[in-house]
Amino acid sequence: MTTFKDLNLTKQLLNALSDIGFENPTPIQEKAFPVIMSGKDAVGIAQTGTGKTFAYLLPILRQLTYSEQRQPRVLIVVPTRELVLQVVDEVAKLSAYMQARCVGVYGGGNINIQKQKVYDGVDILVATPGRLIDLTLSRTLQFNSIQKLVIDEVDEMLNLGFRAQLIKILDILPEKRQNLMFSATLNEDVELMIDNYFKKPEYIELISRGTPLEKIIQQAYYVPNFYTKVNLLEFLLQTEKAFSKVLLFVKNKKIADDIYKEIGPAFAEEIGVIHSNKSQPQRFSAVKKFDEGTHRLLIATDVIARGLDLKDVTHVINFDMPSKEASAYIHRIGRTGRADKTGIAISFVTKKDTTMQKEIETLMKKKLVILDMPEAVEISENLTQDEKPVTRDKSLKKIPKIITPTGAFHEKKEKNKKVNLGGKRRQENLRRIAEKNARTKPF
Ligand code: AMP
Repeated sequence: MTTFKDLNLTKQLLNALSDIGFENPTPIQEKAFPVIMSGKDAVGIAQTGTGKTFAYLLPILRQLTYSEQRQPRVLIVVPTRELVLQVVDEVAKLSAYMQARCVGVYGGGNINIQKQKVYDGVDILVATPGRLIDLTLSRTLQFNSIQKLVIDEVDEMLNLGFRAQLIKILDILPEKRQNLMFSATLNEDVELMIDNYFKKPEYIELISRGTPLEKIIQQAYYVPNFYTKVNLLEFLLQTEKAFSKVLLFVKNKKIADDIYKEIGPAFAEEIGVIHSNKSQPQRFSAVKKFDEGTHRLLIATDVIARGLDLKDVTHVINFDMPSKEASAYIHRIGRTGRADKTGIAISFVTKKDTTMQKEIETLMKKKLVILDMPEAVEISENLTQDEKPVTRDKSLKKIPKIITPTGAFHEKKEKNKKVNLGGKRRQENLRRIAEKNARTKPF
């Protein structure tokens, strides 16, 4: 078995790894190391839980030399603020015996404090896309020293609508740089970005695309509605001690809050909720309490939970199945069974979800094991507003359709979809920075 000592690491990095307690590189770490060290562009297809963060941090830190210059030489772009903090934390652990200045910047945090930190000097900058652009426009940050770019969880970033920002960033970076990208799945959008910006990238792939980690047991219950799902969840939490660290995925914020209301009275001390309407401190605190084991259940929406490194999650429960992309299922279940642990994923499948269930099974080339509903679980007849069939009130008069003579409606829709990158001046500034960086000589 390969050990970290076989990897041509420095003493400082080996010491740090030994302090953390890691001896053997994970497969992605072993495969990525020589490729990233060679300076080539690389695309890693790896889910969270495979050790992908260290897979790019180890060679980056191995090649980072001491410098007093202020502007960053390594840029790591990630989709969420939680992930910024996590990556900064991982850098801190790995660089315990070396001088590496790492700063995290993200939207929602105090921009002046972040500006000051960047101004004080940084080697590795970890950022969310929007805040990165803001700091560039304010001239606090310059990109002309960037030698290595990592885009982590790129598929998620594109799902979240960061395409325009990512392209802006790619355009203003110096041309000569190493590009590294990590994604759990490869889809058309991601491949298009690779084609446009990467030079003959090497693909580091662990498992065939769309195949989940083998050590996750995947089960499902057929459940008719929300209230029956709540009953089943309560039953599982009450009767199964093994459900000690449960990540529960829901469709939206409202459902997250509704579940909390329903099971809160019985489990108030054991539950945390995390979604985008919660304040930043609430979000951090919910993740911390769950990670430390104070809370046994974390109710989360997809966007928030992506990329978080939660240790020893015993169960992932899909209270709601993903509704848009089957690949979301893989991201979710990858939160359990991490590193060398086994995990259990349980899906609550309604009639409406059966098409998605089939898509997921096709993507994974594996069938979910359907469990019988425990007898003690009450099948509720109650329906939520959303579940009630839509009935049309015949007494209501039909409103005549207004026909818009021009394509204005569509034009508006398209326009609204655009990401606001600011006014003409802002655009012009970005263009100028891009031109300047293109002229800048590489290191
Ligand atoms: P990641 O895929 O980067 O989110 O990492 C998943 C988890 O695996 C994190 O808790 C890491 O600390 C842990 N990990 C990373 N590398 C190793 C390793 N070589 N041995 C054991 N655990 C690791």
